[in-house]
Amino acid sequence: MSDRRDFFKKIGLIGLSGIATKLVSNEQLQALETLGQEGISSLPFTLPALPYAYNALEPFIDEQTMIIHHTKHHQAYVNKCNEIKSTDMDYQVDDITKCRQFDPSSKGKSILRNNLGGHVNHTLFWTLLKPNKEANPNLPAGKLAEAINKDFKSFDDFKKLFSEKATKHFGSGWCWLVLRNNTLVIETTENQENPFMRASVVDNDTVKVIMALDVWEHAYYLKYQNKRADYIANWWNVANWDKAAELFNSK
Ligand code: MN
Repeated sequence: MSDRRDFFKKIGLIGLSGIATKLVSNEQLQALETLGQEGISSLPFTLPALPYAYNALEPFIDEQTMIIHHTKHHQAYVNKCNEIKSTDMDYQVDDITKCRQFDPSSKGKSILRNNLGGHVNHTLFWTLLKPNKEANPNLPAGKLAEAINKDFKSFDDFKKLFSEKATKHFGSGWCWLVLRNNTLVIETTENQENPFMRASVVDNDTVKVIMALDVWEHAYYLKYQNKRADYIANWWNVANWDKAAELFNSK
């Protein structure tokens, strides 16, 4: 048990492990259940099964992209976490938790954060996608819809802003809808960082991730090539607002 907590503490993600567990309640995602708040004893990390078929997000996200994204990219993050975990647990807590930016000289720590971030981010991302054959996207409802209207004026205003930020984010990364200190905000992060890292490491903010969009080229290049904006425009059709509402309403 303490082994697991030490592991997350050492890489500055102590907050992330607990939050990730709360966020991913889908029973089909067994791997995240093993990322419990107490025991890292259930290592090694494993690739979670998708809660839908690889072709289920067609025509908006294609089967081949989903297969490669899940079985190659996500699997690689999982493998790397296990490799690093087994070879190096001697990181200095302070070195990591006090750094807003990765220290370029701390290569091992960056590799660990990148890969555990990759594992957690993708595990969340899969649950935030939902098959939808009808090009009739489900929209936020209930309290989440009210909060979006409060903080962004309307869903359309939010959608426009989120699309712009996701499209303009330079290079690899993620775009997020985040409840940060009780206000909905759109944030982007580099590489496999996520809003929890900033929150848990530096700011002591309260943070909930509500929606996530992977804007790495590997998420869209086979189908959309350089047209990230088209990928994003189509992604809205399969964004899972039921799951987002679940996250928003969770304690
Ligand atoms: Mn990805």
